[in-house]
Amino acid sequence: MRMIFIGPPGAGKGTQAARLVERYAIPHISTGDMFRAAVAAGTPLGKQADAHMRDGRLVPDEVTIGLVMERIGQDDAQGGFMLDGFPRTVPQAEALDRALSAAGLQLDVVLVLEVPDDLIVDRITGRRSDPETGEIYHVTFNPPPPSIAGRVIQRRDDTEEACRRRLAGFHSQTAPIVPFYEAKGIVRRVDGVGAPDEVTTRITAALTGS
Ligand code: AMP
Repeated sequence: MRMIFIGPPGAGKGTQAARLVERYAIPHISTGDMFRAAVAAGTPLGKQADAHMRDGRLVPDEVTIGLVMERIGQDDAQGGFMLDGFPRTVPQAEALDRALSAAGLQLDVVLVLEVPDDLIVDRITGRRSDPETGEIYHVTFNPPPPSIAGRVIQRRDDTEEACRRRLAGFHSQTAPIVPFYEAKGIVRRVDGVGAPDEVTTRITAALTGS
């Protein structure tokens, strides 16, 4: 299964992607996670990505495309993958398409998770994660258990200002890639409003047609 996951920041892609990759036994390739790891490790890639990410702006296409092409060429991605956070621009979608076609491959599904803008800011600014397990929480909607409440952290780009910039970028740069995939007949749209389990049920139905 080769799939990509598209949705605004805070739509719940990370949470749902983690469930899907377990089910399909494919690697979860999140460009945001890869960039955050590179920033934390202080690599040259991390240094390039750092300022863009902090402000809620996209990392330049040439950097991002190179990173993803290398990742999907690795052994564990040969049977399929879940791309989360990539492609985010039309040139990224075109580069992925070219690389897959050259290898005689194609995407099976493009999952579009839809959440209205007015819910996004609340979701993002309340988002916290456990650095030890990667589990994602929300201060109001899904509070961390008291035993770990003291160690949860907030992403530095989860401020209201950076969130609004990322949301604007989603609408201007990422949403336009959906028609590119609609033309191939592989887009499945899913309502992302509601509890995570409800959204998982909708995704399962959209993927299996049940
Ligand atoms: P995410 O975790 O997907 O919200 O990504 C966090 C940040 O990483 C984004 O705001 C961008 O700065 C950067 N980033 C992640 N994926 C991409 C991408 N496909 N193209 C450019 N920048 C990206």
